Amino acid sequence: MNKILNEINSDRETQIFDCDVENDIALDEKYKRKNNPNIPDLAEGTVVRHYTALSRKNYALSTTFYPLGSCTMKYNPIINEKIASCAKFAEVHPLQPENTVQGNLEIMFELEKALCEISGMNNFTLQPAAGAHGEHTGLLIISEYFKSKKEKRTKIIVPDSAHGTNPASANLSGFEVISLKSEPDGTLSPDKLKEILTPEIACIMMTNPNTLGVFEKHIPEIAEIMHANGSLLYYDGANLNAVMGIARPGDMGFDVMHINLHKTFSTPHGGGGPGSGPVGVKSFLKDFLPVPTVVNENGLFKLNYKNKKTSVGQMKAFYGNFPVLLKAFVYIKSVGGNGLKEASVQANINANYVLNLLKDKVTVPAGNVCTHEFVLSSKGRLGEGVRTLDVAKRLLDYGYYAPTIYFPLIVEEAMMIEPTETESKQTLDEFVKVLSGIIDESKNNPEAVKNAPSKTPVSRLNEVEAARNPKLRW
Ligand SMILES: *Cc1c(COP(=O)(O)O)cnc(C)c1O
Repeated sequence: MNKILNEINSDRETQIFDCDVENDIALDEKYKRKNNPNIPDLAEGTVVRHYTALSRKNYALSTTFYPLGSCTMKYNPIINEKIASCAKFAEVHPLQPENTVQGNLEIMFELEKALCEISGMNNFTLQPAAGAHGEHTGLLIISEYFKSKKEKRTKIIVPDSAHGTNPASANLSGFEVISLKSEPDGTLSPDKLKEILTPEIACIMMTNPNTLGVFEKHIPEIAEIMHANGSLLYYDGANLNAVMGIARPGDMGFDVMHINLHKTFSTPHGGGGPGSGPVGVKSFLKDFLPVPTVVNENGLFKLNYKNKKTSVGQMKAFYGNFPVLLKAFVYIKSVGGNGLKEASVQANINANYVLNLLKDKVTVPAGNVCTHEFVLSSKGRLGEGVRTLDVAKRLLDYGYYAPTIYFPLIVEEAMMIEPTETESKQTLDEFVKVLSGIIDESKNNPEAVKNAPSKTPVSRLNEVEAARNPKLRW
């Protein structure tokens, strides 16, 4: 036994002797500590228990239902994380010669093909690092396209039911935003669209299903109107979890789109990234895609810079967030086309199930049929002085992550719920029971709801103060 340990340690011992702090480092006396640091002197076991206890105070997909609307916080197979952290992938350097990373390039090549098949687009860039980053990339492509045609198109139509990043991206990409109001059923009216159409309109940016969780039923007509005006159609595909294997934006007439891999394809959206927002285009726009793209020349995968002159340029260092691409690829290949469709169908069924159970307790602003998520309004449906924010906080007391609230902005006292396909009927029933109970409680005992949460490590925070002056130590 000792012999083995000696062998293992023989390397380390040299290191230990090499860095004998006392003798080797000529640190000036004035920099040396006079007293021992003021840190608790605790047994390792105690420290481990402390940090484990802290880690358990986190809300996570692996501990609780996470109905955060617009984020598709579904359970993603842990094996995909393991594959992504496998050293053969994780330790590859982006500047390695192409012939040493053929496997990585092949995965990117195949992922692009799979995304084309799922979306009905013809080419993709995998560079953008988020949904909003994809929007910016897509709009730069549209901008370059019109420049190449010498057309001056400076405006973009963004419906009020689009995601909040859409007008921001349009603005950031140098366009003026023209707003289009949605109809009472939550969809867009082709007639109202016609009224605001001018030759300066570059495109319409549609979120579909839109932020109310409603599928836009007039898309073919809208596509015809826009194309007749020489304008393009941008599809915000962050809600792809509702339509995979059922409908394809490319078939609907869209010219450019982005997909949030970190929602739909095995990376959760929450947690701050890294993410991935690939952008797909129809063939006539492919020369404007960021460089490099991955091509296959005689069986060899290569990075292609051929379109450098026409391209919008490089949108991110290197080629995108490879581990997120890898997880998406593994997920798509492991569940297959039918699996993707099944996921969307189930996500839609689960959302409609929850909506149906809740619809009498709250107000449903856009019809009683939704896609993968839905929006409720609790305006006038809660006890005296109780707001949606209070209900969300009270859910924390029952161990749930709170849904998205006050979004979309077009619904007062909004609550946006996305159950996802991976939750069981039992989980959904339990959640509905708790949420309905809180709505009743807001009438019988409003103070309990207004003062929530009371069972979490910290109670109600001043949110503005907490964001601007976070208190990170006691
Ligand atoms: C999440 C989302 C986005 C933005 O994606 P990010 O990765 O957060 O930038 C855009 N549109 C819709 C509809 C979304 O749900």
